[in-house]
Amino acid sequence: STAALAPQICIVGSGPAGFYTAQHLLKHHQLAQVDIYEKLPVPFGLVRFGVAPDHPEVKNVINTFTQTARSDRCSFYGNVTIGKDVMVEELEQAYHAVVLSYGAEDNRILGIPGENLSGVYSARAFVGWYNGLPENRDLKPDLSSETAVVLGQGNVALDVARILLSPLDTLRKTDITEGSLAAIACSRVKRVWLVGRRGPLQVAFTIKELREMINLPGTRPLLDSADFTGLGDAIKDVPRPRKRLTELMVKSALETPGEREAGRWASATKEWGLKFRRSPLEVLPAADGKQARGVRLAVTRLEGSGESARAVPTREMEELECGLVLSSIGYQSLPLDPSVPFDPKLGIIPNSLGRVQGVPGLYCSGWVKRGPTGVIITTMSDSFDTAQSVLEDLQSGVLNLSDTKEGFKSLRSVLHSRVTPGVHPVTFSDWEKIDAAEVARGKLAGKPREKIVDLQEMLQLIGH
Ligand code: FAD
Repeated sequence: STAALAPQICIVGSGPAGFYTAQHLLKHHQLAQVDIYEKLPVPFGLVRFGVAPDHPEVKNVINTFTQTARSDRCSFYGNVTIGKDVMVEELEQAYHAVVLSYGAEDNRILGIPGENLSGVYSARAFVGWYNGLPENRDLKPDLSSETAVVLGQGNVALDVARILLSPLDTLRKTDITEGSLAAIACSRVKRVWLVGRRGPLQVAFTIKELREMINLPGTRPLLDSADFTGLGDAIKDVPRPRKRLTELMVKSALETPGEREAGRWASATKEWGLKFRRSPLEVLPAADGKQARGVRLAVTRLEGSGESARAVPTREMEELECGLVLSSIGYQSLPLDPSVPFDPKLGIIPNSLGRVQGVPGLYCSGWVKRGPTGVIITTMSDSFDTAQSVLEDLQSGVLNLSDTKEGFKSLRSVLHSRVTPGVHPVTFSDWEKIDAAEVARGKLAGKPREKIVDLQEMLQLIGH
């Protein structure tokens, strides 16, 4: 019968990777049934909890994801943690194919003394805090010092710096949580240094984010002309996006600003700057031994050139005074459960074109497949590739559809039997109720939404 030939496919994680994989499968296989499992009660992963609140246009992908979720061949089951509530082997028994798209939920650590002093946070936790990620709701970052140091020079580092320095009136109109807005309103931070181990030609941020920083009202850039003089020859040979990015830094650092810009910079009360060729050695404790009072940096020199240049510490050191340190040196994926291969060095699930090595029927997409870099578009194309591998394996018979698989039906009883009072999945229409409540709350405050940051409150709202 047709029903017997309908592939039952499950996806773990409802970020861009999960949704784009689902979209491609549903579009190119007319019978496929796709179930998406998500650990949080709410969908969309880093689109909701990572992308900066002042970048609402980036979040428009949610409209496409919502279309996918509303397909009658797609179901969303939130509030189910795979690897805890349900094991991957149980999914493998219930589905013809399992796609792991659970992202990168940890961060790399600096591994230096003082990293645990108060005043030191991972950018991941800080981002989670201002974006309403339930696990970070009580972070209470200490914003009482004038200088903040962000360790890292990627787009996440710039997001964090921009949120720290943005005019309140800008933030107020975004979906930043009311708790973090209140804290930022009392912030004394007026200077943010972004510290990188390598040079201007190796920064990881992109031009749009840099331009936003340069144009941020009320702030001026602090760029040391010495870092940028003589870059001319090196720029010639680099790929165009980096060339344009470097030219923008050089222009801002070396050229006399136009009248308007000069006026704006002169009246600015806040500032931000890039520090190059500095590698963190230690976060320095204040006299109380608990609070951070600065960072000690090794001056580095570059070995090699271009993207692959390596920073080698010299003997020269420098101290930078600050009471707030945000480490922004990368996200990190974690192994999900013992039955899934994991490469701890690369921090990914070993795979070829999304097929998990040595485990037929198991696939991966997104950050857990490639590593935690790349924008949503990159995640989209790698997810389409993974979906294509699944479709090919269905076509070639690697995935045997004559095995009857019952999908969610067979998992329902497993879920109810787990830990009292049982795991109650949140459906997509449940999420739409939470969504409507958030939008309604936001409206009162003139914001696109006021996110609910408490898991219990979300579940209560939908009667769980
Ligand atoms: P994620 O988005 O992290 O999704 C993974 C999902 O899996 C999450 O919902 C998580 O809760 C769920 N999950 C985890 N563990 C389990 C489990 N055990 N069981 C069930 N579910 C689980 N890209 C842009 O294009 N523009 C931007 O402006 C932009 N800003 C960014 C800002 C920040 C701070 C960060 C970190 C990234 C940003 N990106 C941006 C990149 C973009 O967010 C990623 O490319 C994309 O989200 C990766 O998708 P993913 O699905 O692999 O991971």
